[in-house]
Amino acid sequence: MTERDEIAVVGAGLAGCLLACFLARRGYPVALYERRPDPRTGKVERGRSINLALSERGLDALRRIGLDGQVMADALPMRGRMLHPVEGEQQFQSYSVSGDRAINSISRGALNNALLDAASALPGVRIAFEHRLVGLDPITGDMTFETPQGKVAATASVVLGADGAGSAVRGQLLGYGVLTESVDFLDYGYKELTIPPLGGDFALDPGALHIWPRGTSMMIALPNPDRSFTCTLFWPTHGTASFASLGSPAAIEQHFATHYPDLIPLAPNLVDDYQHNPVGVLGTVRCTPWQVNGKVGLLGDAAHAIVPFYGQGANCAFEDVVELDRCLDECDDDWAAALPLFQHRRQENAEAIAQMALANFVEMRDKVASPLFQAGKRVEHA
Ligand code: FAD
Repeated sequence: MTERDEIAVVGAGLAGCLLACFLARRGYPVALYERRPDPRTGKVERGRSINLALSERGLDALRRIGLDGQVMADALPMRGRMLHPVEGEQQFQSYSVSGDRAINSISRGALNNALLDAASALPGVRIAFEHRLVGLDPITGDMTFETPQGKVAATASVVLGADGAGSAVRGQLLGYGVLTESVDFLDYGYKELTIPPLGGDFALDPGALHIWPRGTSMMIALPNPDRSFTCTLFWPTHGTASFASLGSPAAIEQHFATHYPDLIPLAPNLVDDYQHNPVGVLGTVRCTPWQVNGKVGLLGDAAHAIVPFYGQGANCAFEDVVELDRCLDECDDDWAAALPLFQHRRQENAEAIAQMALANFVEMRDKVASPLFQAGKRVEHA
């Protein structure tokens, strides 16, 4: 193929938009297909990871397209963890010995919108919203999309799946028998709750990632630019102590009063949030290969979704884009060489962070509260 052949990117989430920017800068025409309507004109989905921690790995990618300044303007740096015991004072644990290193709380929606704006502004990028990929021939690159107007056919020289953990591109490759996958779901899910501003200001220290480690459950809270905090409660999905076990407003209030007493005065909409916000699933996706014949490739969560306890899924997806760009450089834009090289370089790293994220769940919900840990250890992650 020549440099002028169109590349299809499926999924205008974090990785897909960034990828469109990098490809357009290489001179490719890019068709970016997204199943949702344009999020810049619609309202945000309730209870879906409203903010996320952006670290140096992700920032490096944004810097390369000149978007770091805009994104960091609204970022809230978190320099450590603030532990909330059931009783007693909050305790701060710095992420670094010097105390000046931070991860950044960022609005997922604002980040996605900034990336969409950046992609739309580049010549050669065409974005088709309300296009859900439902068919893909991995030999020809022929795609079928469901749209409000009915089924639409399209084709591209290369099709890149950046369509998230439940990737339809990956599903198509699976259906053709050219890929194997494993999806390991945790028996924990997550639910988002809100701490609104208190008297116009943050109700908790905005310079920390707040953690309520409770052994079999855990809650975290990250600050938002509007001075609210988004809390994420991680808890088993089924069983006697689980999301399913709190069936009435009284049971919800009683549970939080017992296990998260300092949250009660800070979260006036606790019961409503609990009853109406969905329980999200958490899991680890592994698959191989990540590409077929240099024609179809996967990246980001579509290739390697991980549990969120290291705060690195999006950062890792951004790193993927930088590495793919590097592979295209080194392979003179020969996709049949670049895509296997990309998998070779990234798969081991993706597996490493998948395992570290699972291990960090145990650390965050349990070990961070142990006296030994507090006495000696300093870490540089969530
Ligand atoms: P996504 O962001 O999922 O984007 C996929 C896009 O593809 C979406 O826009 C979707 O609508 C679209 N799509 C899906 N199917 C189709 C289809 N058939 N046709 C067309 N389009 C389609 N990561 C961090 O780095 N830091 C954090 O602090 C952090 N916190 C997290 C907290 C929670 C609770 C969760 C669940 C995740 C967290 N993550 C975090 C992980 C992060 O959200 C993901 O790793 C990241 O969103 C992956 O980006 P992506 O672009 O690969 O996929």
